[in-house]
Amino acid sequence: MEIRLDGTHYPVSTLGPGQRLGVWFQGCSLGCAGCMSRHTWDPGAGTSTMVGDVLARWKEALAGGAEGLTVSGGEPLQQPAALAALLAGAARLRDGARRHEGSAGPRPVDLLVYTGYEPGELTAERRTALARADAVITGRFRVAEPTRLLWRGSANQRLIPLTPRGAARYAPYLARESGDRRLQAATGADGALRIYGVPLRGELAELERRLRAAGVGLTERSWRP
Ligand code: SF4
Repeated sequence: MEIRLDGTHYPVSTLGPGQRLGVWFQGCSLGCAGCMSRHTWDPGAGTSTMVGDVLARWKEALAGGAEGLTVSGGEPLQQPAALAALLAGAARLRDGARRHEGSAGPRPVDLLVYTGYEPGELTAERRTALARADAVITGRFRVAEPTRLLWRGSANQRLIPLTPRGAARYAPYLARESGDRRLQAATGADGALRIYGVPLRGELAELERRLRAAGVGLTERSWRP
């Protein structure tokens, strides 16, 4: 099945517990003011690939010790069939890998999805697409409602476990505030600097200011119109 993505990255350590494979869907029509990922809005941009290719990356990540998969975007639920196929395949590979783990016991490995939809907007089709997710972070980004809650960009966003695995995995984090390591930077195959994580209000402007002071200018910032 075809899937349109902004990209993938492993390991990501700022979007859920542990070292994770990050998968960013391309396309979002929700248009939150202050979105840091405006480059993911155009549904025709990004790269078209196959769900099987993403699952191959997940299989590699699991073999390398991944502790979770984080799906973000863009809006994953605007490609519901592809999201459902990705999560189903990821759960199958995760459960297969766990059966082969040693006497130390299985690693906790969870599937987390970010969506801009509010819980009340999760229609039957969207809930079906999320059927294999262990937890979801819901809600539009609201720039006027800052928060320090871990992995959430604004105070309205909710971290909701969906499975017993998700409940066990995320219970310690539901009310936890973010520490100093909120953002992670890496250079993609296209040479662009990418920032993974959820900044506090004003943090990206501060990052720009510091880089400018160090003689580094940013172009085509994804958080600017
Ligand atoms: S914050 Fe998320 S839901 Fe809102 S416009 Fe950006 S990608 Fe879409």
